[in-house]
Amino acid sequence: MRTLLAGNWKMNGLHGSLAEIRALMRSVGQRPAADIIICPPATLIAEAARTVEKAPIEIGGQDCHADSSGAFTGDISAEMLRDAGATAVIIGHSERRQYHGETDRMVAAKLAAASRAGLTPILCIGESEVQRNRGEAVAVVRRQLSDSMDAKFKPDDLIIAYEPVWAIGTGRTPKPQEIVQMHEAVRAVLTERFGESGEQIRILYGGSVKPDNAAEILPLPGVGGALIGGASLKAADFLSILNSTPSR
Ligand code: PEP
Repeated sequence: MRTLLAGNWKMNGLHGSLAEIRALMRSVGQRPAADIIICPPATLIAEAARTVEKAPIEIGGQDCHADSSGAFTGDISAEMLRDAGATAVIIGHSERRQYHGETDRMVAAKLAAASRAGLTPILCIGESEVQRNRGEAVAVVRRQLSDSMDAKFKPDDLIIAYEPVWAIGTGRTPKPQEIVQMHEAVRAVLTERFGESGEQIRILYGGSVKPDNAAEILPLPGVGGALIGGASLKAADFLSILNSTPSR
C-alpha cells in the first residue's frame, strides 16, 4: 500500500497560500513518493482543486455537516465539498471534538455523510494526555473507533488517522514503540469489524510530524502515512517529509 501524506491547513491560508500548492505541484512531478491530499480551509477548496487538476494531488475538506443541505447556518455539507472539487474530508479531528463538542455519534453521522457524497473520510481518533497517563490509550482509541462508525458503515475508501491529542501542535510525539502499539490496536478493531477489508485501510499517524522526525515515524510497522498540520503549510516542509517516505 502506498504511503499517504495528508496536510491539514486548519484555519490557515488566504488566497496567496495557493502558491504553496503550486510549489508542491512543481516539485512532486507526476509520480510522487506518496499519495498526497491537502486539506485547505473551505474558502480555498474550489480554487485549490482547479489548481491541482492535472497533478497527483487531491484536495480535501476539514469537516462536513451530516446532512446534505438545510438550515444550518455556516455549515458545509459533504456534497458541497464534493461539488467544490474535494475528494476527501477529515472527520472528527480532535479540535472539532474539543472546540465544537463533536461526539462519536456526531462523527459517525458525518462519516456516513462523507461516504454518501463519495468523499474519502479521514477519521481521526486519539487519546488525551490524561488518558495516556492513566494507561487508557488503547481502550479509548478502540472505543472511539468503534463508536465513530455506525453498524451499517462500509469501509470502502476509509482512512484512519491516529492522533494522540497531546501530540498535536505541541512538538511532542509518542515513542516509536508506542506509535506501533497504537496502530496495532487500531488495526485489530478494523479487522475484527471488517475482516480482510480491514487490512486494506490505511492508518496514518498524526501529531507533530515534521521534517526532522518523519524519517523515524513513516517507516514504522503499521504506519501508512501521516496527517500533518503545521508542517503542511509550507511546501518546503511538506516536500522534506515527502522525501522521507519509505519505498513500499
Ligand atoms: C493535525 O492537525 O492533525 C496535526 C497533526 O497537527 P500538527 O502536525 O501541527 O501537530
